[in-house]
Amino acid sequence: MSNDTDPAFQAWVDRAREVSLEAAAAMAGAKLKRSAHEMIGPCPKCLGTDRFSINEGKGLWNCRGAEGGNDSISLLMHAGGLPFLAACEQLTGEAPPRDGRQIDADIVRERKEERRDRKISKEQDEQRRSDWQAQAVSDLWRKALPFGGSFAEAYLARRGVTLTPDQCENLRFIPSLEYRGYADEQAQAETSLGEFPAMVAAMRDPAGGIVAVHRTYLAPDRPVKLVPPGDRNRNKAKKVFGKARGSIIWLGRPCPVVAIGEGIETAGAWYALGIGPDEVTIAAAYSLGNMSGGATDTMRHPTIKGRTIYNGIPDQDRPGIILPDWAREVILLGDGDSDGPTTVAHLLTAGRRYRAAGKAVSVHMAPEGSDWNDVLMGCMEGAA
Ligand SMILES: [Zn+2]
Repeated sequence: MSNDTDPAFQAWVDRAREVSLEAAAAMAGAKLKRSAHEMIGPCPKCLGTDRFSINEGKGLWNCRGAEGGNDSISLLMHAGGLPFLAACEQLTGEAPPRDGRQIDADIVRERKEERRDRKISKEQDEQRRSDWQAQAVSDLWRKALPFGGSFAEAYLARRGVTLTPDQCENLRFIPSLEYRGYADEQAQAETSLGEFPAMVAAMRDPAGGIVAVHRTYLAPDRPVKLVPPGDRNRNKAKKVFGKARGSIIWLGRPCPVVAIGEGIETAGAWYALGIGPDEVTIAAAYSLGNMSGGATDTMRHPTIKGRTIYNGIPDQDRPGIILPDWAREVILLGDGDSDGPTTVAHLLTAGRRYRAAGKAVSVHMAPEGSDWNDVLMGCMEGAA
């Protein structure tokens, strides 16, 4: 058999490829929900909750358990667990035209090569982007000014948080830093919305390298959090730049007991309240999801319809923060002002993960309706 393919067979394959990704996903039994430009849901083959997605606009499908691809045939092969011919047959609703099996070998080889080329160029793009970002993170941190005596120090002091020199080694200040956000509700992409002062924090990976910079933008005239210009709903005063997942903001030198809060303010406030042990290193995870890492699945929120929460079982493939060996005991600081079941499910996931890594774990939950910074501010008002 030569390389020139049987035209009838090729036309049959083309007809299979023309089937929409959405229709192919439905054939595999996928139940997907629309989310922005994509449709997302569990993978019929690998399960999970949101690992499978299709982007009809870009003509791409993806599963975190596979490579993904750009046509309905590869989608059905993965999600439906079918070989090439069977996938084409299901998509077209027709049996292969004569002699298909021999030609199949050529096509399979060709497709394999295409897939390999695509993977290589995707990896090269990602590498370039990642190198550029690492350089930008390091430049940003280098150009920042010392924290001591800065507007950023005044901001934390106003929140009742005064840090020792050891505790603020990973904090710095930038007097004027570009803020990018959504200009209005309709905006599709972030644009430059001005320059503002910012408290910046080094986010470190388990080896101690700075992999991201956390920014708390401040109002230009007073040491309070910035109310960002543009779209109020999407533009936040706190932003992260770099590969933040799994990194941590250390607020102190290594010590066997570590207390991790979501934010710099809440961790600092908990310390200032003096309710922890004498010797403790505080740290900020920047988000609950980073503190807990991923969970193997989600379950229904007990009270809010349509919402899900973590099932409490850590997913080893999505670890979140990995604590160094010197941290023997972990105190997880919970905020009582966010949705209760969501917070508890994350803390449970985090607690089980750190316990499995051999650490003693406890949880300090702020009273319902407040975070640790509210508690501190309440104490200060009471004392004044
Ligand atoms: Zn899958």
